[in-house]
Amino acid sequence: MTEPRTLPRIGVLAIQGDYAAHADALAESGATPVEVRKPEELEGLDGLILPGGESTTMLKFLEKRHFFDALLQFCAQHPVFGTCAGAILLAREVRNPSQRSLGLLDAVVERNAYGRQIDSSILTAETSLPGGPLEMVFIRAPRIAATGSTVEVLARRDGDPVFVRQGKIMAATFHPELSTDRRVHRAFVDTLLATTGK
Ligand code: GLN
Repeated sequence: MTEPRTLPRIGVLAIQGDYAAHADALAESGATPVEVRKPEELEGLDGLILPGGESTTMLKFLEKRHFFDALLQFCAQHPVFGTCAGAILLAREVRNPSQRSLGLLDAVVERNAYGRQIDSSILTAETSLPGGPLEMVFIRAPRIAATGSTVEVLARRDGDPVFVRQGKIMAATFHPELSTDRRVHRAFVDTLLATTGK
């Protein structure tokens, strides 16, 4: 008989934004979600999601609570998935305006890059994930303006990458937790299992 496998424990940074929906999505995707508000809560986790919200607010909180360095250290060593504001936090360079970031994803990201009328929209677009086109919910989304050569593009919007993977780092400029399709969270759990050998 094979032993029942313990599910990976994946943190969701729970200081601002829609972290609860990510926790639900993880629970539906073969992982145990853990809300993270303090550096010590990162201990023992297998990976982390940085949710959407307002990246400037998250940054202020992280700096005020002396959490930025611990977060950087964790994200440099573990699988991490940033969505929308979380993708902004992960990027190597942030524009419009320029702001501090973890610098782990080799990408240049422009905040609030889509014009006013389409700044929040739901699209269905092709993805390289198996299972056909994917629904993507954009809310005041950033634009990935450039990516490095090691960044794999999993989906695009009007030619720009909106869903990318670089080794154990994943980022989406949309909100997969707000759709019912769990392929994106499952892809993160699979990436985590593949890179941690769990
Ligand atoms: N506009 C937000 C920012 O710049 C991101 C929006 C989101 O996460 N939905 O941080």
